[in-house]
Amino acid sequence: MIFEQIATGGCQSYLVGCEATRAAALIDPEFSQVDRYVGLAGQLGLHVRYVIDTHTHADHFSASHELQKRLPAPVVMHRLSPAPYADLRLDDGDMLIIGELRLQALHTPGHTRDSMCLVMADRVFTGDTLLIGGTGRTDLPTGDPHALYESLFDRLLKLPRETLVYPAHDYKGRTHSTIGEEIDANPRLARTDRAQFVEMMQNLDLSAPTHLTEALRTNMSGGKTVAQLLAEASAKVPFMSLAELHGRIGANSRDLVILDLREKDAFEAGHIPGARHLPRGQLELRVNSELPDPTVRILACCEFGKISTLAAATLRELGFTRAVALDGGLKAWRDAGYELEA
Ligand code: FE
Repeated sequence: MIFEQIATGGCQSYLVGCEATRAAALIDPEFSQVDRYVGLAGQLGLHVRYVIDTHTHADHFSASHELQKRLPAPVVMHRLSPAPYADLRLDDGDMLIIGELRLQALHTPGHTRDSMCLVMADRVFTGDTLLIGGTGRTDLPTGDPHALYESLFDRLLKLPRETLVYPAHDYKGRTHSTIGEEIDANPRLARTDRAQFVEMMQNLDLSAPTHLTEALRTNMSGGKTVAQLLAEASAKVPFMSLAELHGRIGANSRDLVILDLREKDAFEAGHIPGARHLPRGQLELRVNSELPDPTVRILACCEFGKISTLAAATLRELGFTRAVALDGGLKAWRDAGYELEA
């Protein structure tokens, strides 16, 4: 078995491959590491046959939808997953064949309704059902402490004690444990009485994860994150540095239209010398009258350098083939001590 554990800020992803056939599966990939997974699979000579999410993640962005297109490979989730982009939906007990490897799904609801653990040879990928020294929380959408109790005590913990446990998260740099170690030492498993377990889970009083709403929106629907929209726009436009722009202001500035996309009051309070004002909200409506020459070189700028990136990409799509975005925004311009015109 080829086995790679990829840790990113507390998230644990796994690339498991068959040595003989080079077929592989990728479990719980995280969005920021898409290039790394693709690169690693290539480096190891593996063909990823399945991208698997153990459940609908609420605390980070799943890469499965992106990898579905990039690899490409089918996205595998439990039957109850709300994700419309899931290609292959598993029931409890269903098995995937990955070359000579066998991966069996155990439906283990509790952390979420669609949680599953994946048993493969000597190990189990527990998702957020069982963590090292912890369990997944049950207070987020579709969580249920009663279901988690049954999933743990009636199912997962009945695996052989020596089974290796690989969770979807660990925030302390640990890679794995065993079912036996968790039974003996995991404080959440000390309450083997159902009522006590449920009461403990209901009183954990955890703060909501950052990005909860956006993570659920994108992971449940397949929609894009704002960061993804920005990354896609960034890939479509060149940028101009503050220093380069500063050097171009003045004598030869007629070659360059500086387009300030902020609201009127911000523009009037101070803008880059010679800049023209066209608020982002009116860009598409007024672009033809404001910029009659599509061959002109346009520099888009805004306060923080994000709206300008989106706008420059839009301008390129509209046929302004020389549109670029300022690397940074008016804030960076002011911080650098460059001149403003009021
Ligand atoms: Fe989770």
